[in-house]
Amino acid sequence: MLYSSTRGGAPAVSSAQAIVDGLAPDGGLYVMAPDALPKLDWRDLKDLEYPALAARILSALLPDFSVEEAEALVRRGYSGKFSDPRIAPLVDAGGDLFLELFHGPTAAFKDVALCLLPHLMTASSAKCGHTGDILILTATSGDTGKAALEGFRDVDGIRILVFFPRDGVSPVQKAQMVTQTGRNVGVCSVIGNFDDAQTGVKRIFAAMPEGLSSANSINIGRLVPQVVYYYSAYFDALRMGRIREGEKLNYAVPTGNFGDILAGYLAAELGLPVGTLLCASNANNVLTDFIDTGVYDRRRPFHKTLSPSMDILISSNLERLLYLLSGDPGLVASLMAQLSAEGRYTAPDALMEKLRARFAAFCCDDVGTQAAIAEVWEKHHYLMDTHTAVAWRAAQDFGKEHGPTVILSTASPYKFPAAVLGALGQAAGSDEFAMMDALETLSGVPMPANLRGLRERPVLHTDCVAPADMLEYVKRRKAEPSWAK
Ligand SMILES: *Cc1c(COP(=O)(O)O)cnc(C)c1O
Repeated sequence: MLYSSTRGGAPAVSSAQAIVDGLAPDGGLYVMAPDALPKLDWRDLKDLEYPALAARILSALLPDFSVEEAEALVRRGYSGKFSDPRIAPLVDAGGDLFLELFHGPTAAFKDVALCLLPHLMTASSAKCGHTGDILILTATSGDTGKAALEGFRDVDGIRILVFFPRDGVSPVQKAQMVTQTGRNVGVCSVIGNFDDAQTGVKRIFAAMPEGLSSANSINIGRLVPQVVYYYSAYFDALRMGRIREGEKLNYAVPTGNFGDILAGYLAAELGLPVGTLLCASNANNVLTDFIDTGVYDRRRPFHKTLSPSMDILISSNLERLLYLLSGDPGLVASLMAQLSAEGRYTAPDALMEKLRARFAAFCCDDVGTQAAIAEVWEKHHYLMDTHTAVAWRAAQDFGKEHGPTVILSTASPYKFPAAVLGALGQAAGSDEFAMMDALETLSGVPMPANLRGLRERPVLHTDCVAPADMLEYVKRRKAEPSWAK
């Protein structure tokens, strides 16, 4: 199985090459042909523990890796990194099923992929006969950056540079990034929002693709590890007696760049009995409107919300879904050209019909988000973060008549203490670190160990650039002999 560009303007490459390149040279995203997707019999997988399960799925979707090789990479990537040995436990809170994806080193779901990506990247690089150093460029809405920095820190042959929107991440997220240690890490803020940072990174790729790769979910190596927990959740729900064998399970996914939910689509295409994928958005509800109307229109106000990792108006991975549903790179190229030139496009009805057979869309503003956090805490003593709360709301709106729905819990509530405390009726104040302590006292839920002591760590990264200066900045940093801090 080869990977080709969603826009059809670049040669097909091996899975290893797709991981090394990150973005296809025509500006498209690497994707498998829809009719080349393998089928896996989920019944063969249901008793495997997480690393073995992950290995089977990785090897199926990244055929350059044998099952044995993939399992070794998974074990290396995850060992000692997750505070819960199950990696992605499914938790029943008063009947609601939460898939907790935040037990990794940075307390957000992106760890699940980003603990693995460095290992996939170095192995892929070797398979491709690549010898020079790789520079990883990453734009972050808050959580990817830290997870990527942790994952790639001190990995030989790789440097990583993270761009975050100066005023678009939470204080905890910012502190996590600017205090990052390591001899191969760089962090720089951008005067703009996440879309500015992401567009800037894509532009750098177009200008100087040699030796660059990406840790964003535009990299297929980020997406594939996320398919695994859709399976593990299904098997856990079976074991908990919440579904019968073969019964369909719905998933509510707090969505920004559309990577996580696309992994759910891939799980369904591989043969897992997936029902509806609930695309849950905050006030930046460009995807809700798209799924409901077929018109993708990014020309709208950008809202800074309490769920900042979903404050996105250009959802990159939707491009992969358009390709997988239509199989038509010409169509995708034309829609993406319209998006870039006019800020909008209309997808054909036939494509939207297929899309709606699998996806449903919901959105929830900040008031609804905080009400959800309060309701679940009061009823079930379960503490949700703001992103998880948006997905929980979607699951309630979807209703129980379609069978059980797993809510993807993408971050620890301690990453967004002001919003969570506020939801619980506590005056928040201005010191996020004091709020983390207050949240712990109030809830009795222990703070993740890796967030403790953040306040005392020295700030090591203070660079800040305008979006237009990102390319020059990267050229200058690339020429520096050492980034050791
Ligand atoms: C990144 C992120 C999301 C959105 O995931 P996408 O794959 O970008 O759709 C949701 N919640 C949290 C906490 C995140 O960090």
